[in-house]
Amino acid sequence: MASTPPAAQHPLALFGVEELLTDDEREIRDTVRAFVADRVRPQLAEWYEAGHVPARELAVELGKLGVLGMHLTGYGCAGTNAVSYGLACAELEAADSGLRSLVSVQGSLAMYAIHAFGSEAQKQRWLPELAAGRAIGCFGLTEPDFGSNPGGMRTRARRDGDDWVLSGSKMWITNGTVADVAVVWARTDDGVRGFLVPAGTPGFTATEITRKLSLRVSVTAELAFDDVRLPAEAMLPDARGLRAPLSCLDEARFGIVFGATGAARDCLETTIAWAVDRQAFDRPVAGFQLTQQKLVDMTLELGKATLLALHLGRRKDAGSLRSEQISLGKLNNVREALTIARECRTILAAAGITLDFSPLRHANNLESVLTYEGTSEVHTLVLGQALTGVPAFR
Ligand SMILES: Cc1cc2nc3c(=O)[nH]c(=O)nc-3n(C[C@H](O)[C@H](O)[C@H](O)COP(=O)(O)OP(=O)(O)OC[C@H]3O[C@@H](n4cnc5c(N)ncnc54)[C@H](O)[C@@H]3O)c2cc1C
Repeated sequence: MASTPPAAQHPLALFGVEELLTDDEREIRDTVRAFVADRVRPQLAEWYEAGHVPARELAVELGKLGVLGMHLTGYGCAGTNAVSYGLACAELEAADSGLRSLVSVQGSLAMYAIHAFGSEAQKQRWLPELAAGRAIGCFGLTEPDFGSNPGGMRTRARRDGDDWVLSGSKMWITNGTVADVAVVWARTDDGVRGFLVPAGTPGFTATEITRKLSLRVSVTAELAFDDVRLPAEAMLPDARGLRAPLSCLDEARFGIVFGATGAARDCLETTIAWAVDRQAFDRPVAGFQLTQQKLVDMTLELGKATLLALHLGRRKDAGSLRSEQISLGKLNNVREALTIARECRTILAAAGITLDFSPLRHANNLESVLTYEGTSEVHTLVLGQALTGVPAFR
């Protein structure tokens, strides 16, 4: 009698990842996974093709789900641990990096900046609305001529009596045209400072960047400030110097470390299911040794990336996560996720080039993820400096 082949295992089950999570963490992950399956996945291909996302409606639903600023405390925020936030990011990015970007920019950039550096009045005014998704936030650091080196920024805020007058522009700003409030970083006589600029303030315009081949389920914009007059209270009182926006970026990068594993996992799940079913030369594509080599190599990288994310998450919850360790996770996990997405596409062959399957969409998205929040080159230099003590940025 022929023996029954062993049941196929999920790639992450091989690593025993499930056992590393608490009941609460699993519950949060499963809740976000169910939301994504029900509300997002059925419409993703349509949104991606149209290059349009109903950001306002989604933000309200994400607010109800409790994921906006979920790792922050008070002001209507859920106050979960960092690992739970990471797991939520992975589930969102398993659907699409654009969805995770919306949540990252809202929670880790805009809300975190206000939470960490804002006055009590600023926190009361914005955080409950942003946590509920009734308001959307964006974060303007990058400029047309200064991306990797934000220290060169030209956007300027000068004092005029008690007021501030802001002039300059910001580029590639996620959520820019749908935001109710922009956190804007500008040079002042007192170094780099942060300002809260509500949408509709005279002189402030946001223009959507179109014709994108990547992150099409995400709003990207250019912001222009033409002598925008702001009251003294618009400044974030506790943000002094470039360290403040850079600390916000660390928060968002942390979400990416997990998020990228979600995209990679989705690619692999999609591809294994397809390869088991698809026949070539009268046998399943999954039965070819060359295919299995690819699947195993990708599983190894996905498992290692997931374990690294969890390790960094536990360190964050313990208060011992260092900035260069976030670089480690961002560099490795996005790079490997992109490699996995492309390799999955090769298995899917022709079927892989349409929106019927996720890997090429994920690969296109991950090109942006590789670039934003510090390019892979910049994180390599951060780690090179950590290893050698010698900075190689200039
Ligand atoms: C979809 C999307 C959304 C974004 N959202 C936001 C947002 O919400 N807010 C925001 O502020 N920004 C946002 N960004 C901007 C993003 O952070 C920048 O694109 C990124 O920092 C890189 O800047 P740059 O594109 O100007 O590239 P550049 O800085 O011009 O770099 C060009 C190339 O040179 C390399 N390079 C630069 N300096 C060095 C060096 N010292 N050594 C070696 N190589 C180097 C880079 O790695 C890159 O390969 C977003 C970008 C994208 C694509």
